[in-house]
Amino acid sequence: MTSLFEDAQSRLIEVMKYVTLSDDVVNRLKYPKKALSVSIPVRMDDGALRVFTGYRVQFDDTRGPTKGGIRFHPDVNLDEITSLSFWMTIKCAVVGLPFGGAKGGIKVTPKELSLLELERLSRGYIRAIADIIGPKRDIPAPDVYTNATIMGWMADEYYQIMREQLPAVITGKPVHLNGSLGRDSATGQGALFVLLQWLKAFELAPENTTIAIQGFGNAGFHFAKLAYELGFRIVALSDSKGGIVSNDDLNPQLVMNQKLADNTLKAMLYCDGSVCREAEFNVVSNEELLELNVDVLVLAALENQITEQNADKIRAKHILEIANGPISPEADEVLKRKGINVLPDVLVNAGGVTVSYFEWVQNRSGFYWDNSEINCRLKKIMDTEANNVFDLARQKKLSLRSAAYLHGINRISGAMTEHGTREYFQK
Ligand code: NAD
Repeated sequence: MTSLFEDAQSRLIEVMKYVTLSDDVVNRLKYPKKALSVSIPVRMDDGALRVFTGYRVQFDDTRGPTKGGIRFHPDVNLDEITSLSFWMTIKCAVVGLPFGGAKGGIKVTPKELSLLELERLSRGYIRAIADIIGPKRDIPAPDVYTNATIMGWMADEYYQIMREQLPAVITGKPVHLNGSLGRDSATGQGALFVLLQWLKAFELAPENTTIAIQGFGNAGFHFAKLAYELGFRIVALSDSKGGIVSNDDLNPQLVMNQKLADNTLKAMLYCDGSVCREAEFNVVSNEELLELNVDVLVLAALENQITEQNADKIRAKHILEIANGPISPEADEVLKRKGINVLPDVLVNAGGVTVSYFEWVQNRSGFYWDNSEINCRLKKIMDTEANNVFDLARQKKLSLRSAAYLHGINRISGAMTEHGTREYFQK
């Protein structure tokens, strides 16, 4: 079995068929620049000491300080964090942000920790990696099972270490602690902008477009809510416990209210005060949700959800990758043969890092923007870069994924080449 990082790199090898890259560039993109592994001792509420393992990988900083989220998950490992840092490098280049790529994570099941334990763990992680992060070096952000509150604790710990307020060290902070408006919904909103540009070519009106969404967390929920508000038909949703599918369109906000109230997914038709009417719905497994016959399947959970095992059973016409790496390279080939259009993660989920970039800019300038300015700037970047990728795919007859990689790698390669390559010095 190949490692996740080998899978991630195979996309680079695919792109090299269509572009002549200097050997210097290829070699630089094979290895992360820095990979730090740390142990974080935490005093638990019962007095016991537990030691957690954490990582921070900075893949490449040629185009600017490195940028990437922090994940809290029991499966976190160095291979996964390295792959995610590689994807961040490509993603920042695809949307033209002045950043390189990084990622961090802690191997932990956050639901098993009390809030105070979680705070001690978050602060301990920052103490362990403080030497290699900073507003001009490496800027973390939230990812799976981390949120604005955790970013606020982490930023505060960094200020205490550095003895000054440096809010640009971390993005995705609470709005009242120098965060940016629009960061919560940015990934879902950005993905929706990309989908709208893509569907223009198919003349599919929202009210005739059915959507199933795997992963009803931050990114999946905001995407679902914004798509529903535009009139798209949300017919299925799932989280780690399973999914629901309904003939009556699901209202994501009402489903979320219900999930917050009793931790289950139920199809709510409407609520008037405390009186709610439930729609008929069927419970489906996560595997079944992926195989539904819908126009758009949205993957917003974790890596490797569509693999060789289930790729042949996928019936959606278009797949929107909000999660990072949800489709294996082997599955990509099967989906291509079946004529299913895959809108790739490095473009689709870039709205999150784009509004993180806006937060960093606002923190550094000390001047804060309103919602309409954030949304307008996000739309401009996502629409422009999505169409750049679609045009490249058409011109070079490439998959959308290869076109997105080619678009990003052209920018990275340009930056590396400007420093001088073997060819330059042999002139
Ligand atoms: P989150 O922790 O808020 O939500 C993850 C959701 O996935 C949860 O609802 C969880 O129950 C569900 N889930 C987990 N395993 C599942 C499974 N097997 N089947 C169905 N659902 C499952 O995380 P998030 O921030 O929404 O991130 C989701 C994905 O999007 C990740 O791959 C992340 O890297 C990517 N992403 C997020 C952002 C962001 O800004 N939040 C930005 C870019 C990429």
